This record gives sequence, structure tokens and C-alpha cells, in this order.
Amino acid sequence: METIKKLSVTMLFLCAVTLLSAQSNSQSKVTRLPLFDVHVHVSKVRPGSSPLCPWFLTSMPGSDPNEERISFFNSDCTDPLMPAKDDEEMKNEIVRRIKEMNLTMIAFGDLGIMRSWMKEVPEGRIIPGIGIGNLTVEQFRDSLESGFYKVMAEVAPQYQGKSPSDMEFDPYFAVAEELNIPAGIHMGTGGNGMANITSPSFRASLGDPFLLEDLLARHPKLKIYVMHAGYPMAENMIALMGAHAYVYVDISGMIWSYPLDEVHAYIKRLVQAGFGKRIMYGTDFMTWPRMIETSMGVIEHAQYLSEDQKRDILFNNAARFFRLDKSYFDWPEE
Ligand SMILES: [Zn+2]
Repeated sequence: METIKKLSVTMLFLCAVTLLSAQSNSQSKVTRLPLFDVHVHVSKVRPGSSPLCPWFLTSMPGSDPNEERISFFNSDCTDPLMPAKDDEEMKNEIVRRIKEMNLTMIAFGDLGIMRSWMKEVPEGRIIPGIGIGNLTVEQFRDSLESGFYKVMAEVAPQYQGKSPSDMEFDPYFAVAEELNIPAGIHMGTGGNGMANITSPSFRASLGDPFLLEDLLARHPKLKIYVMHAGYPMAENMIALMGAHAYVYVDISGMIWSYPLDEVHAYIKRLVQAGFGKRIMYGTDFMTWPRMIETSMGVIEHAQYLSEDQKRDILFNNAARFFRLDKSYFDWPEE
């Protein structure tokens, strides 16, 4: 009796071990090199979101205050990106891409939705970020100290008509610096007519990368990634990165919205200036699942980038910036 009991316990244990290793094998069985998207917004799907034409800002005709308000996105093209219909479809589309494309992402926004995505993908593929929002400094510190959030993002004072170096935000950045948390700050882009359409406080001038300098001086150990790469202020972006070694950029948002030639010219300018190791791929993902492969295609098809430079932008630079070593990711068998 005792022997049978022992045997069945052993068998149970063996079964569990086999099950576990089978699980981790299936999780690590990937066919593609890892990719890293450093800029993903997570939100509930808003019914009636419009389809999106990539590079829709190719035409910014302007408007008149006495005319009907211009719409922010353009859906008038042959193959617009369709928005997800509901939260379930969105989750399935994202989860499928994370698995099939071997994708890791920095994601921020609706916590419930984010947790529902995280449940369906291998551990570590979704890295949660948190912005300042309406949090007090203490709440912000508690959230980061919980260990769940690994990144401070997205911080976007430009929409409030404020500089990232405004002292109002300083205690939050001080916490991020103290806890070794990298921060992503929106600088530059605002699309067409942002100040007229949704954000009257938005100021183009407050997207100037130089406005980060006081913040960086006050927090010399803070790692910053400039979201949207300070577009279109390449000169100041280059000067800032030259002076501050811990500053990286992401090319999210601009990569699928501004004229494609312009997007390439901007990325090329940064690479040409010597910053190919500091550019990170990102989408600024919102509600159109195909945005992921659309944005990635821009890098994959860039004639001026070598294969090594593409891998740097699509993965290596982000892994280095977020201090994640090779073992953190899944790799295809050699
Ligand atoms: Zn942004």
C-alpha cells in the first residue's frame, strides 16, 4: 500500500514536471527573432473608431475657424487599417501578434485590459508602464515599488501646455530616478491641428527636445526615452543626445502618420548623425491591430539601413535601454 502511494506520488510529480517543461517548451518555441515595441497604449475599444490611412498626414490642407471642424484621422484610402470591433477582438489580435511575431512590448493605460492581455501571453512579453495621471507622488511611488510597473510612461506635458522640466513633475521624476525606472516623455509630434481640434493647451514649441535639459541636469541618473523622437526637431534632438548619453528616442507615432519619405528622412538623419544605437522601434499603438506590421515594415524596408541597424532599431537598442539581457527573451532554435 505504502509503495503504491509512494509510486503514485512520484508519478504525479513526474507528470507535473513533464507538464511544466512541455509548457515552457511550447512558450519558448519561436521561429522569429525577438522584436520590441516600446510604445503601446492599452485602452477599452471605443465603438465607432474610424479606419486609419497610414501616413495620412501626407496632406495637411489646413482649415478655417468658420468651417466644419477638420477630422484628426483620414480614412479615405484604398486599404485603411481597420479598428478592432470590441475588447475581445483587440485582445485576440494583440495576443496573436505577440506570439507569432515574438514581440515584447512596453504597454500603458487601462489596467484591466492589460491584465487580460497578460494572462494570454508568455510571462514578460508585456512590460507595464505607468504615467503620472492623477496620482499623488506617494501613490506613484507605491505603484512603482509594487514591482508591477517597470517604466514611467507615457508622460506628455506638451498637451497641457507645459514643459517636461516644469517643477510640477519634478518629484515624480525624482522617484523614477531613485528607483532606477526609465521614463518615456512625449516630445514633438501633434499631428494636424492638434491645438484646434482636441487640445487647446498644446504648444508646438513645448515639444522642443532642449526643454528636457533642466530635468536631466536635476536628475543625472534618470534614463529618458524621447517619444516620437522630438519630430520634427532633428537638430535639437541630435544636440541633446550628443550632450546626454542616457537619452534614447522612440520613433512611434510619426512612423505611421507623417509622409513616408519624411519619416525615412528623419530616421536617416538621426542614424547619419551617429545615433543608430539609440533609436527604438515603437508604434504608439491604439486601436488598429495592423498598425504593428505596418510600422515594422517601415524599418524592414528602409534602404539606408543595414540588417544590423534594423535589428538594433527593432530590438537590440530597447533591450539595452531597458536593461534586459538575452536570457529574458525567447530565441528561435539555431
Ligand atoms: Zn505621445
